[in-house]
Amino acid sequence: MAQTADFIDEKEIWDILETGKAPSRSLFEEILSKAGEARGISAGESAAMLQVTDPSWLDEMYAAARDIKERIYGKRLVLFAPLYVSDYCVNNCTYCGYRRDNRFHRRRLTMEEVSKEVRILESMGHKRLAIECGEDPVNCPIDYVTDVIQAVYSTWNDNGNIRRVNVNIAATTIEEYRLLKEAKIGTYILFQETYDRGTYRSVHSGPKQDYDWHTTAHDRAMRAGIDDVGIGVLFGLADWRFEVLGLLQHAAHLDREFGVGPHTISVPRLRPAAGVDIDQYPHLVTDSQFRRIVAVLRLAVPYTGMILSTRERPGFRDEVIATGISQISAGSCTGVGGYSAETRACGGGVAGGGAACAAAACAGGSGGAAGAASYESPQFKVDDTRSPDEIIRSLAKSGYIPSYCTACYRQGRTGDRFMALAKTGKIKEVCAPNAILTFKEYLLDYATEETKRAGEHAIEQHLATIPSDEVREETKRRLRLIEAGTRDLYF
Ligand code: SF4
Ligand code: SF4
Repeated sequence: MAQTADFIDEKEIWDILETGKAPSRSLFEEILSKAGEARGISAGESAAMLQVTDPSWLDEMYAAARDIKERIYGKRLVLFAPLYVSDYCVNNCTYCGYRRDNRFHRRRLTMEEVSKEVRILESMGHKRLAIECGEDPVNCPIDYVTDVIQAVYSTWNDNGNIRRVNVNIAATTIEEYRLLKEAKIGTYILFQETYDRGTYRSVHSGPKQDYDWHTTAHDRAMRAGIDDVGIGVLFGLADWRFEVLGLLQHAAHLDREFGVGPHTISVPRLRPAAGVDIDQYPHLVTDSQFRRIVAVLRLAVPYTGMILSTRERPGFRDEVIATGISQISAGSCTGVGGYSAETRACGGGVAGGGAACAAAACAGGSGGAAGAASYESPQFKVDDTRSPDEIIRSLAKSGYIPSYCTACYRQGRTGDRFMALAKTGKIKEVCAPNAILTFKEYLLDYATEETKRAGEHAIEQHLATIPSDEVREETKRRLRLIEAGTRDLYF
């Protein structure tokens, strides 16, 4: 019998939110102190923190969230890019530019086109991709997806190749998840969109409308042997406090059932897209609420990677990153074939700063398809249109160490092995040196001169913070090997 998603208890969520209203200062301090141990806080405590509005309390909460992120993962920020391979879709999600009722020329990439897109992404320095596609069993069956994964892993560009492929495809069967596992995916990502059943029904039509099938997809993926799964909500569809508690119930369920919580939580906000009038949605999330969402998730599930996309504008993105984010996308195009199309549009050469023109043209939302771009419609509008090089320079100057690390997946540190290290904060002992090594590769192979200067300075600073003499010296030795031409060294 099909599994029901009874681990999402809507009544309990509303009750908890009611109880958590207007927390006292003493309760706030008590929760903050518990959160500071980086072992998480309960749903009730999270509900109270979500309903704090005093600006000075919020500043304390943001600082605590940042400290927890740094206690677990250090100062590293992992970078990745999405790769949209097919915009065929049998669903009609009201918030998405790919929805069935939108009329545009749909397509999926050939394997040659996949390789071309991958080479462009590699020339920007990327080592980690997330494959994205709509749901269409005829035009985008599982065999096509596994062929794409194979094409991505086997495409090389000078010094670079993609070392980790995460996959975001529609909820499917255990048999098909096994095929993804055999294709050596990193994380299987599926956003819930909304945990509110009524809203879920009203914004979806097509196979995705089945709430139980969709919400239990991660269970099937884990039963199929996929160790790492990612969850997320599209903030703006239903009450944001409800959605955060839905995410926490989902995370707790996975932890209980499989001994492993979600590897990542994504926090996209509703964005304009072709045929999507976001002003019609009554639950749009303000910037201040959005920071609270990120901070409370970091306090509640400190071990989980938290992902921020290019949906957010640059200045605000930096603020949110400082509230506990551990992974970001950079230089993203959200249209099928978008990287190649925009490379042609800007006259080629995407290395370093060139990628900015790719992303900038992508950012036109439905209008982004106009002009020289040959892809028809992006899935949503991007707001951070900086190139990876610009983003990296800004991160390095702000005290972060940008990371292209994929070591855990390749060292077999997945699932419960990864969680044991993340939950105890030991993971940062490898995150920091791996970030330094992969950042060095980036600086040598892809960076502009300005970024190289900022980056070398950052490497010196972060090297000095490695607590173990032995690991620091070994990292220095490997840096010399990278300078001499060796690549892909990791702990
Ligand atoms: Fe299709 Fe996904 Fe867009 Fe829904 S959100 S219309 S399933 S691509
Ligand atoms: Fe991620 Fe593991 Fe690398 Fe840290 S060491 S950045 S957790 S892959």
